[in-house]
Amino acid sequence: MQPDDIITYLDLVNEEKAHLQKGMNYRIGKNYSVFLMSVRKNAPYADQINHTTGALIYEGHDHPKTTLVPEPKSVNQPMTTSSGAWTENGKFFKAATDFKTGLSPNPELIKVYEKIANGIWCYKGFFELVDVEHASDGKRKVFKFHLLPITKTILNGNIELPHNRIIPTHVKVEVWRRDKGKCQICGSSKNLHYDHVIPFSKGGSSLIKENIRILCAKHNLEKSDKIMILVPWISVAAAAITTHRMN
Ligand SMILES: [Zn+2]
Repeated sequence: MQPDDIITYLDLVNEEKAHLQKGMNYRIGKNYSVFLMSVRKNAPYADQINHTTGALIYEGHDHPKTTLVPEPKSVNQPMTTSSGAWTENGKFFKAATDFKTGLSPNPELIKVYEKIANGIWCYKGFFELVDVEHASDGKRKVFKFHLLPITKTILNGNIELPHNRIIPTHVKVEVWRRDKGKCQICGSSKNLHYDHVIPFSKGGSSLIKENIRILCAKHNLEKSDKIMILVPWISVAAAAITTHRMN
């Protein structure tokens, strides 16, 4: 799987061999963790992407809603459960702190998926958990986990893309709606991928929806050897210009 691939929830389950329900999932793979995120309107948590550095700030999870805690948003996010075990907040807090203090030589690896629509997800790539804040948001204490996108070769030889290629989730959500979840060349709704109209390597932006569209795997690969220059009356393939395969 490559970053910006569009998948169903079932694909996600098959990839991770787990029915993920929670946002934060510590070490569900052999040597990495998984975060699920959403920055849609009404999303339950205030996750943010820094569009300059590509850093992702992921908010911890709330106390479960119980008879004793009827309003989870009014109490501190918990480090431990009532029986004293680490919550997912606590496990990741410990991992980030161990890395910061040098107790652990490597940061925790976190695979991130973002929700695009009901049952539709996008793979965002691998990140490293490099820092954590446990601080007041004005009303209560929350966790803010700092993740940096990985740009070097890791697990199974997968090469992750540069962080500045990361398309913001809100752009992906808007493009999904505009393109109606289909390849913009053939109309297929299978094996879809977010594509840069002008490749990132040629100066195309990741931040505006006009430069992002949905293509199927076949047309994404066909496009990789040429740039389509669209003018009002004719479509010219500038075949001489070889572009990066992943664009
Ligand atoms: Zn297609």
